[in-house]
Amino acid sequence: MVGRYRDHVTAISDGPLSLTMTEAEERFALIDVERYDVAVDLRGLFEGEVLEATSTATFRCHRPGASTFVDCTGEVTHATLNGVELDPATASDGRLPLPDLRADNVLVVSSRQTDTASGHGIQRTVDASDKLVYIWTSFEPDHARRAFANFDQPDLKAVHAFTVSAPDTWTVTSNSAHTAVDHLPDGGRVWRFADTPRLSTYVTVFNAGPFYEIRERRGDHDLGLYCRQSLKHLLDRDAAELFELTEQGLAWFGDKFGAPFPQEKYDQVFVPDMGGAMENWGCVTYGDGLLYRSTPTHSQRLTLASILLHEMAHMWFGDLVTMKWWNDLWLNEAFATWASTWAAVGATKYRDGWATSLAGGKLEGYRVDMGPASHPIRGEVPDVSQAMANFDAISYQKGQAVLKQLSAYVGEEAFLAGLQVYFRDHAWGNTRLEDLIGVVGAAAGEDLSSWESAWLDRAGTDTLSLEGGTLTATGPDGDPPRPHRLDIGCYAEDGDGGLRHVADVAVRTDGAETAVTLPDSDLRIVNDHDLTFAAARTDRASLDLMLRRAGALPDAVSRALTVATAYDMLVKGELSSDDALTCVLGVLETEKVTGVVEPFLRLASLIAGYYTPVDRLAEQRSRVADRAAAIAQAEGELQQGALYALASNATTPEHFAQLDKVAADNIGLAWRVAASRAARGEYDPEVVEQLLERDPDPDAAMSGLIVRASRNLPEAKEEAWHALYVDQSVPAGLVLGTLIQAFWRPEQREVLIPFTARYLEEIPKLAGGGMLKVFGLIGGMFPGVGDQEFLDAATAMARSEGVDPTVRAALLGGVNTLVRGLRARGELA
Ligand SMILES: [Zn+2]
Repeated sequence: MVGRYRDHVTAISDGPLSLTMTEAEERFALIDVERYDVAVDLRGLFEGEVLEATSTATFRCHRPGASTFVDCTGEVTHATLNGVELDPATASDGRLPLPDLRADNVLVVSSRQTDTASGHGIQRTVDASDKLVYIWTSFEPDHARRAFANFDQPDLKAVHAFTVSAPDTWTVTSNSAHTAVDHLPDGGRVWRFADTPRLSTYVTVFNAGPFYEIRERRGDHDLGLYCRQSLKHLLDRDAAELFELTEQGLAWFGDKFGAPFPQEKYDQVFVPDMGGAMENWGCVTYGDGLLYRSTPTHSQRLTLASILLHEMAHMWFGDLVTMKWWNDLWLNEAFATWASTWAAVGATKYRDGWATSLAGGKLEGYRVDMGPASHPIRGEVPDVSQAMANFDAISYQKGQAVLKQLSAYVGEEAFLAGLQVYFRDHAWGNTRLEDLIGVVGAAAGEDLSSWESAWLDRAGTDTLSLEGGTLTATGPDGDPPRPHRLDIGCYAEDGDGGLRHVADVAVRTDGAETAVTLPDSDLRIVNDHDLTFAAARTDRASLDLMLRRAGALPDAVSRALTVATAYDMLVKGELSSDDALTCVLGVLETEKVTGVVEPFLRLASLIAGYYTPVDRLAEQRSRVADRAAAIAQAEGELQQGALYALASNATTPEHFAQLDKVAADNIGLAWRVAASRAARGEYDPEVVEQLLERDPDPDAAMSGLIVRASRNLPEAKEEAWHALYVDQSVPAGLVLGTLIQAFWRPEQREVLIPFTARYLEEIPKLAGGGMLKVFGLIGGMFPGVGDQEFLDAATAMARSEGVDPTVRAALLGGVNTLVRGLRARGELA
């Protein structure tokens, strides 16, 4: 899954008992599930909130006479085991006891689920513009049990055959292709789907509604794209690129992993009210915020491409071969994140993926890893409710970087050879981390056990510092540093402001100090090409040159590494925001690689808007706006992103004049300009009315809310607060992120301070309420302003007993970021 790159996860814990690892091990030792035949009736969702299902599980028991339980959190209405009636009243805490098993068993459980509005496993949404109803399911980690009775743990894989009854006007999609659609005597149609291969329950799916559908045949595959009717024009706009990326990705992974995707049908379904995307086998779902309502920027297209490839990589890593238990879920996500960048660079037009990822997501990995909420990549998961606790930039971004480091450490050839063995030997099965490390180590002829524990069992980031001929590595915790394979890039000044690449010196560190022999050069870049995950510090002379002249470096990854280093130094208090901004803007002056321009502009906006003393905000934003304005002058794929950056930093009449010229034909930009003006006290309700009339987006009302929320007025913030926390009507994804940015503005501190206390008051009401709430309303909405009193209160809440670990991590991470911001702003000692 993803969101920033997090696949969709529906909930943390929701009442029923959470399966423990021990229980899962016991059940795995006791039974083998052969197949599920699941008849689902969605007709009760056309106007109501009732999903009915009858699940027939065929399974073997290794100890006849023993007992176990099946998971079902809906209301059990009828059940038989081997023809014998079971009392539905024995079901409690989401479990139905199964006594006296035979060697061969057939279990039939009928159940009803009426909770279809909270995003827990099953979501029913009514489109605001045309009142059409859409249903999607998303079962990770243990929500299949909300839809139908099953043994909901990843290592009890089985064939699934879905039969779905739905209203006449609905289309149904599921993992496999449908084999028949028949009319039902009592109304509606029944969709029969072919048997799936052996899958974990959490990657099964069914989606339904009056979808708009486009199909195309590419290579050996029959590709389908779906969205709600009101977004049809957007899917038409993006379909060509989506089909092309899908074809390129399937070919790349099939070839490199030595195993083609085995099913002809590969569907991708865009659904409302979903925050990320989910790797259901053969039927990936995406939040339809990814069908961007305005012309997408280059960076937005790249985001969608990355998510598409991330979910596709899961078809192999996650779906074909699955972790035995949720403690290796991080590996699923780290792998899919790594594989998506690797495939984007190797197989698509997005060839600058590594530079883009360094300038964007990887910084988030460093940010989390430097705070108290960091944790080792690998952790204990005693029960399923803990599976998502560490689902953050450590799993995704640091995890990706560590796999990239592993590939560099053993060489890509050995890494890929190991992967091919892994997919061949474990197809349709389950594995642990050591199975992967074992085959990679074998292919490389190297024992990776100490590498594994050093990289996976310790939190925090090593620092690599170059001084003279010595590279010093320090661990984050006083313990010895990890082993690193890195390059030191050496460059010489060429006299006209340019930098000439002299050599790359390959280094493999072992211990704290490594002697390196470097050629004559003026600038040395530690971790050039970004092979490892570490804070990089070069010598003083190199640093000055690097900060001033990074734009002259010949490679985009080197430039991104420089910018990342400047940012790292800023947040650690080693560099002023002025100097950091000068470095980024200097690079942007000449940057031609499209994949990094927007991430650099975003970083520049962040430095100017978050890490700058309030009395200098306007001046620094104006510098960013000037640069964005210059980039926006040129037509092409960078224009839209540059205009957005200009809109959010606009300060002078010239900036607004340039924006107004194009905003008339650019609704996404027009909304941003209106928000920017509103933040400056130039709110015009008539403009909002006109934009609402112009905008075909079914969710356009949210854009109006964002404009109003930008104002420096208590009632403006109050309205947004109500939508966020009382109505909870703000869709996850881009809209929520934009609203959060509009809400917290450091220069509106006075109006905002009362909301910092109210933020903490909301948290107990939200905990346990699903990923959208934890990541969006707790993590995302963490205040952008604050004082010592708030920081103390937030820390105390995070540290108090019984706090959900995901909430704790969100709070501690937020405190850490805010403290760094307040220090850079001079608001905190
Ligand atoms: Zn994922």
